Amino acid sequence: GPALIPAEIHGIPIERVSPAARKVCAALQDAGFKGFIVGGAVRDLLADLTPKDFDIATNATPEEVRRLFRRSRIIGRRFKIVHVMIGAEMMEVSTFRSAREADASSTDEHGRILHDNVFGSQEEDALRRDFTVNALYYDPTTEQILDYHHGVADLQQKTLRMIGDPKVRYREDPVRMLRAVRLGAKLGLTIDPAASRPIREMASLMDNVPAARLFDEMLKLLLSGHAVKCLKQLREEGLHHGLLPLLDVILEQPMGERFVWASLENTDERVREGKPVSPGFLFATLLWHEVLANWEARKARGEHTHPALFEAMDEVLSVQGEKLAITRRIAGDIKDIWALQPRFEKRAGKAPFRLLEQPRYRAGWDFLRLRAISGEIDMAQVEWWNEFAHAGGNTREGMLTEPE
Ligand code: ATP
Ligand code: MG
Repeated sequence: GPALIPAEIHGIPIERVSPAARKVCAALQDAGFKGFIVGGAVRDLLADLTPKDFDIATNATPEEVRRLFRRSRIIGRRFKIVHVMIGAEMMEVSTFRSAREADASSTDEHGRILHDNVFGSQEEDALRRDFTVNALYYDPTTEQILDYHHGVADLQQKTLRMIGDPKVRYREDPVRMLRAVRLGAKLGLTIDPAASRPIREMASLMDNVPAARLFDEMLKLLLSGHAVKCLKQLREEGLHHGLLPLLDVILEQPMGERFVWASLENTDERVREGKPVSPGFLFATLLWHEVLANWEARKARGEHTHPALFEAMDEVLSVQGEKLAITRRIAGDIKDIWALQPRFEKRAGKAPFRLLEQPRYRAGWDFLRLRAISGEIDMAQVEWWNEFAHAGGNTREGMLTEPE
């Protein structure tokens, strides 16, 4: 059975555990079921980080969970789980499941798991999880942790260890390679050599991962607050090659490299300061130099400047979208930011006043600033806009240049 680790040993103060999550566990237990906080939240609390969200695991079926909580609904993405609303917080409650035996119907020809919706015991639920530090179950009633795979010790020893044979686990789900890098960077853990060694040769398995899933994971990685560290690690592990066209673009395009690192450093800083980061802004920066190159090529072929930019934007987004399902909404945000850039060149007449009134002006200016930091454009242009935006009406008129 699992090791039982009491509060005196693991040291998680109960006040750091979301009251809503405690409530859900207590309600499950009162109804005769098991109810644990599981996965990333327990790991993060142990590492003295603030969990993003609290996931709950139970032996109740989704229907049983649904009946226990008035404000709840069953959702079925890859498997059925229940969303429970407590106040303004949303908890994800999932039923213990087992990783089904790999047979021809449940895995694709590369060994990737296609369905994993078979209910199982708590022990099986622990076994299907990826890393030992992610297989911890916290009972807020007893304040004990159930530790099935020595995750607490691994966390103390700063090791990210795969449960089971890493090669088999990567074959089942290649996204685990990305997760290894992301969680290692986020928690300051060293990936166990047994888990890091196979990554290089198995990196090409990422080609079989559906685009929407890859986009989710890339977004998590880029918004983790450790994007710079993660991407450097990805490069070291040989995981960026052929992994996504996007990453090849980022890391192997000399002209855009400085811009991309500047942008990722800026993103990491904002995430760590708790400031909002928009995925649209981030992807706009990652793909900007692709757009520039495409745009230049079109202009050289004699296309008109303005329509050529829009054609370039669409082409870059559609090429990236093949492997990375950038959602429509985010694609819209990306284009808004790009489309504003040429407008910063006009500093005469009414144009600057109209640009200031754009709802995305601030994002556009932040983007402009990054372009200057990376050396693409002159910082004086960025400063001009900053002054113009903050100046009074009379001063503004005097700042305008003569119309061409
Ligand atoms: P984050 O800090 O990003 O939330 P997390 O570990 O909580 O990290 P989630 O995607 O929220 O990541 O997943 C919750 C839990 O589900 C994990 O802790 C792990 O136990 C399990 N899990 C998630 N993805 C996988 C996977 N690809 N293979 C096996 N188990 C997984
Ligand atoms: Mg999580």
